[in-house]
Amino acid sequence: MNIELINTGTELLLGSTLNTHQQWIGQQLAALGLELARQVAVPDTADAIQDAVRDAMGRADFILTTGGLGPTSDDVTREKIAELLGLRLCREARIEAGIQRFFEERRRSMPAQVLIQAQVPEGAQVLENAHGTAPGLAIPLPPKPGSTLKAPRLLVMLPGPPRELRPMFTQHVLPLLRQLAPSQDQYARRILRTTGVGESVIAEKIEPALRDGLQAGLEIGYCAHTGAVDVRLIARGPQAHAILAQAETTVREFMGEAIYGENDDRLEAQVVQLLTAARQTVALAESCTGGFITHRLTNIPGASAVVLAGAVTYSNTSKTIFAHVDPAILQSFGAVSPETATAMAEGIRRALQADYGIGVTGIAGPSGGTEQKPVGTVYIALAQADGTKVHSSINRYERESFKAITSQQALDLIRRALLASRPRP
Ligand code: ATP
Repeated sequence: MNIELINTGTELLLGSTLNTHQQWIGQQLAALGLELARQVAVPDTADAIQDAVRDAMGRADFILTTGGLGPTSDDVTREKIAELLGLRLCREARIEAGIQRFFEERRRSMPAQVLIQAQVPEGAQVLENAHGTAPGLAIPLPPKPGSTLKAPRLLVMLPGPPRELRPMFTQHVLPLLRQLAPSQDQYARRILRTTGVGESVIAEKIEPALRDGLQAGLEIGYCAHTGAVDVRLIARGPQAHAILAQAETTVREFMGEAIYGENDDRLEAQVVQLLTAARQTVALAESCTGGFITHRLTNIPGASAVVLAGAVTYSNTSKTIFAHVDPAILQSFGAVSPETATAMAEGIRRALQADYGIGVTGIAGPSGGTEQKPVGTVYIALAQADGTKVHSSINRYERESFKAITSQQALDLIRRALLASRPRP
């Protein structure tokens, strides 16, 4: 089924409003096994809206428009689409009464022009708006030649404000889509989340082994985030679930512990979960990450049972006071060194009597680098009962990405240590 989205709003093109509808609607559809075939944002002008709808009607089975259903002069979506489709607009008394009630309940006087929202193109289904005065509208469209849809194709208009659009989408649009869409057992999707390996390396590893699945119609996609790559597997048709299960087994076999979760799982959540399961604790001394690793861990419910402390030991003095780093180490090796990272991890672990200690030190830049230790140099130490290991890398990014990548590496270091220490089944 070809679904197209038309977002109206000059503010979207001026960049003053971020088009969150596109992302949110895309996510809702994906969860149903559906995908947007195309999305376009157009200004609030008659020509732009009509051109976009005319264009989409040549291809789409389901057209969704957002915005422009309100009462002001720049809200022209309803009127211009009705005009394009040659449909008369009729005032609906039931909607008018609802709008009047909306104002009465809020003890506000009603400007006459808001009643324009009670105009309905003939033949349209009215979709109730529980959070505003502009109802949505669903208009059946003439069939496309050769269409195999289960019901007439549709054009649905929803209002712009997200707090109105989202519940209306869930309540009204999803059931309409279900009527049209092929059944769910013909579609299977899984996202496997990885860290520590680049996307081209992943592709090189898994694609030869997935050849059979690819021939059977398996789709593979890669989505690189900061310090992580999602591998997306999609299968369609009567064998969808079997093809997907086989592909997932293969990817897991090749990627092993680089996979930290599925779908919306977060790396920090897995660390908290593994610590909780092992009844173990962590304490952190963070320099160049400024507390970001602790921030990520403490975003996870249940972190208080396993995260004992996170000290931002930015200066040498603070490394000595809070992480008990011997000043001689700082003097001999420098604040950014494997030795200092080790001393930070071991010191904070000892001070808090934690099972794991993490120490992070590096040069975020843009200045402060040397030939031996260029900007981006980072040392992450993980201390535990049987010793300390140090990860080093050069994360040459601007400061926020530097923190994000470094935090990802630190979380991955402890995650892998926790996995390795799990009792074998
Ligand atoms: P209203 O009755 O509020 O005028 P409307 O249906 O006419 O509703 P618009 O005027 O197009 O909707 O948009 C109203 C508000 O909704 C915008 O100011 C903006 O904040 C938000 N909005 C509109 N489109 C989007 C979008 N694509 N993504 C995020 N927010 C949006």
